[in-house]
Amino acid sequence: MEINNIIDYLVKSADFPGKTIKESCKKNNKEAVGCVAPYAPEEIVYAANCIPVGIWGGQVELTKARTYLPAFACSIMQSIMEYEIRGTYDFLKAVLIPAVCDTLKCFGQKWKGTSEAIPFVFPQNREAKSAEAFLESEYKYIKNKLEEILGITITEKALQDSIILYNDYRAEMRKFVEIASVHTDVITPVIRHKIIKSSYFMDKKDYLEYIKELNKKLRLLPANNSKNKRIIVTGIMLEPDGIIEYFEKYGMDIVGDDLTHESRQFRTDAPFSGSALNSLAKRWTNHNACSLAFDPYKERIQYLVDLANHYKADGLVIALMKFCDPEEYDVPLIMERMKKENIPLLVIEIDQQAKSFEQINTRLLSFAENM
Ligand code: SF4
Repeated sequence: MEINNIIDYLVKSADFPGKTIKESCKKNNKEAVGCVAPYAPEEIVYAANCIPVGIWGGQVELTKARTYLPAFACSIMQSIMEYEIRGTYDFLKAVLIPAVCDTLKCFGQKWKGTSEAIPFVFPQNREAKSAEAFLESEYKYIKNKLEEILGITITEKALQDSIILYNDYRAEMRKFVEIASVHTDVITPVIRHKIIKSSYFMDKKDYLEYIKELNKKLRLLPANNSKNKRIIVTGIMLEPDGIIEYFEKYGMDIVGDDLTHESRQFRTDAPFSGSALNSLAKRWTNHNACSLAFDPYKERIQYLVDLANHYKADGLVIALMKFCDPEEYDVPLIMERMKKENIPLLVIEIDQQAKSFEQINTRLLSFAENM
């Protein structure tokens, strides 16, 4: 397959999630199970012969969500609530809801769709000895619930195979972001985002084949000598697409990211362990430098400095999800450190309900000019 065809296919897969999920389920003779926002153990869903589907909200007008969520709940959960009330997710066999923050803690009890909700808790103190055992028991609960809903047995072998596939996928994605950073003429900010996003709607086995082929083809191209500014983005997610288009418009390439929606998903592998569920639990306790995983040392700040140095970035943009507490706590610390490091920084607010981005447009323009 030609490189342009691979890119087109993945971009279209991200643009039409409903169609992509349907085709993927049909092709692989599988059902779909939703995973609300970050870090659900997709491997368990995959081992249950289902396609894990990422649920990350979207641009939707709120007409009903406010009945169940306060106005100060984060923008992404408002969108998800609106979609679930509208029945958008009712085709899913079940929905995994991880509690990584206060909003998500109550979200599992408020699920309005007809698909069964499986809420579970991530232990925040990941250094406590009990954290791993506790999370393993939460994953066992998810496994049992899926077995009950789907009327199947999830074997240890299926779980181990699933972990191997997911570790392969994560390794290939880490290669992709690395290679993409020197081919920003082909992998523009919008394309980069959509290629990563499309993985949420496809069978990982199929997606992995595309991304491997893409990496192979990208490697054969000469590195581009773009004069654009090199930018790192951090936060929960960088959407809607209208905002990413401004990066392109003002000559800014996204060369690296620390977004929950993107690189944070494939930063940490599940290490080898005698038991598959223990291996998945270890993945969380090993996951560092993330605002959603409690960290008294705030390793994320140093991680961002290292990331900026690694990619020789000209600046850092914090895509701050509206009303996201865990992200808001980190902002002053990041600002202070970037000032010391002399790394230009811009904070923009991400509101999935926004229809116009004029303010962000102006701020990105002046950020690009000042760099
Ligand atoms: S965006 Fe922030 S507040 Fe909202 S669900 Fe995610 S972590 Fe929680």
